[in-house]
This record gives sequence, structure tokens and C-alpha cells, in this order.
Amino acid sequence: MEPPPLQTARPTFNDALVSVVVPAFNEQDNLESLHARLAATLRACAPRHEIIFVDDGSRDRTLEVIRKLAAADPKVKYLSFSRNFGHEPATTAGMDHARGDAVVLIDADLQDPPEIIAQMVERWKAGAQVVYAQRRTRAGETVLKKATSAIFYRALDSISEVRIPRDTGDFRLMDRAVVEAVRRCRENPRFVRGLVAWAGFRQEPLLYDRDARFAGETKYNFRKLLRLSFEAVTSFSLLPLRWAMQLGAAVVGVAFLLLLTNVVLHIARGETLGRGFDYLACALIFLAGLQLLMLGVMAEYLGMIHRNTLARPLYLVAEQRGFDTPAP
Ligand code: UDP
Ligand code: MG
Repeated sequence: MEPPPLQTARPTFNDALVSVVVPAFNEQDNLESLHARLAATLRACAPRHEIIFVDDGSRDRTLEVIRKLAAADPKVKYLSFSRNFGHEPATTAGMDHARGDAVVLIDADLQDPPEIIAQMVERWKAGAQVVYAQRRTRAGETVLKKATSAIFYRALDSISEVRIPRDTGDFRLMDRAVVEAVRRCRENPRFVRGLVAWAGFRQEPLLYDRDARFAGETKYNFRKLLRLSFEAVTSFSLLPLRWAMQLGAAVVGVAFLLLLTNVVLHIARGETLGRGFDYLACALIFLAGLQLLMLGVMAEYLGMIHRNTLARPLYLVAEQRGFDTPAP
């Protein structure tokens, strides 16, 4: 008897379903243009598709605009959070609800040109399981933002336990296998692009030129970016914890050398080094500072453990349309 044909995840690419996930927080003036450009691109490169908007507790007319788009276009589905949970929970919710054989993440502000999705789909059909868009240039961003982000990506890459590609945001296509792998990680805080890198599979960069924001302003101020960087580091590296031990060992070494010098000087010449109060005060302040700093590093990790023991849901959906199943 003939064995049954092997079940493959993607039987034919022609009828593959492609999901596009758009996290949106106060993006009322971007969504209509985004939808028009997305729909045009997808009609050509993936006739079977769904567009999933995730309203992340917006306070402007974002949800209203999304409702209108969904009423007019049956390919549009949406989730609306009960409050602002953040960019990473929003992309996660989109991935949880997407049914596609491939899932694309794209920002709502048109900084990522939707037309690139056609090339991503091509690469996917050629065998790539993750196609991540890597910025060749980025328009409309301040020198400070470009500089801090360059430093961040390089620092993260050098201390992270997985190779997280540089100059790469969330704009990417993922095969269903990768989506399932990332969905199994329910950690909080979560750094989605780090998780995708962690998952492995066949990953390929796709170079592109990033546009300026179409309308509105960035939702990431310096403080939020700093927080995101801390979360990325604590999620993907234990090195800062090891630094505490190395620094401690170095300081103990220096103290020991000082002691030795003192003893030698005392025996040889009857004097001691650093006898004055100033030296002592400096040494004390320095050591106290160092200890607080290292306590801070440990607190970052402790905080992460704390959040994960609480095990709260990553997001809460208040309203949704287009999905058969209720929100998980
Ligand atoms: N975003 C979100 N929730 C937030 C902050 C941002 O869903 O709390 C969305 C935002 O609407 C956009 C994407 O995440 O679609 C990226 O945000 P933004 O463009 O402000 O970041 P930048 O490109 O400036 O780094
Ligand atoms: Mg942006």
C-alpha cells in the first residue's frame, strides 16, 4: 500500500495565506494610507491575506478609523486592547490571532514601506523562514536617535547570547514554524525581535531604506527607548550579572595590593600610604557607588523574575472583529 503523502506546512504557495500584523497606538492619520498601500501590494503578491490591526489602547480616533476600514474591507480584522499595553504585547497579540502560513509585522506609521512585503514573500517562497528588513538608511530621524540606536544595536550584539541582527526593527516576515516557536515564549517583558533571532530557522536580511514617519510623532521617547534596551539586555544576556563578580574581584585585588604596599612601606621606611582622610573618603564613596550600581543591575533581573512569577496575561482584548475564536 502507498504511504500517505507527507504533510508539509506549505502545500502550495499559490493559495498560501499571508497575515499582516499592524500594532497601532495613536496612529489615526496613518492608517488609511497604510491600508491602501498594503491592500494594493498584497493583492498582487498574496491574493489570500488578512490584515490584523491591533489598537494598543489609543486615545485618539485610531479605533474608529480601524472599525471603518474593517467594515469596508473583509480582509481587515482587528483587536482593541483595554488600555495601552505597549508595542511588544501588541505584536504578540497579532501573532496569536494570525492564521497565516506566513506572518508579516509592520509599523503603522509608514516608516516601513509596505511595498517591500512583495520581496519578503518572494524570499519566503524561495525557502527563507524569516526575512527581516534591515535599514540601509533611515530618513526623518534625528542624529541623536540614529547615534543612540547604533550604539544600542552594537552593544546588544556584543553581549547577547543570541545573534540579534543590527539595524533591524520588527518589520519582517515569519514562517508559521517561527511564529509558533515565538508564541511558545510567554515571557514578560518581551523583546520580540530578540525572540525571533533566538528561534533560529533560516533567516535572511533584506536591505531597505526607511522612510520618515507619514504623520504623528514617535511613541518612543528617550526614557521608553532606554527601558526597551534594558529589557532587551536582561532578556538576552547574563553578562551584566557576571560583571558584578568581575568588578568585585578587581576591587578586592586592588585593595589587597594597597594593603601589601602599606605593609612593605611600613617595614622599609616606617610610613604608610594613603593615610589621610581624603583617600579613605574617596575609596568609601567609590565602593558604595559601585555596590549600589551592581545592586541596580541585580534589581533589573530580580524585577524580571518578579514580573514573570506574577504571570499576568500579556494583554487584554476589549473589542475584536473578524476572528472565529475568542481571544486567548
Ligand atoms: N506602538 C504601539 N504601542 C506603543 C507604542 C508604539 O503599538 O505603546 C506602535 C506604533 O503605533 C507604531 C509602532 O509601534 O506602529 C512603532 O512605534 P513608533 O513608530 O512610535 O517607534 P519608532 O519608529 O519611532 O521607533
Ligand atoms: Mg516609527
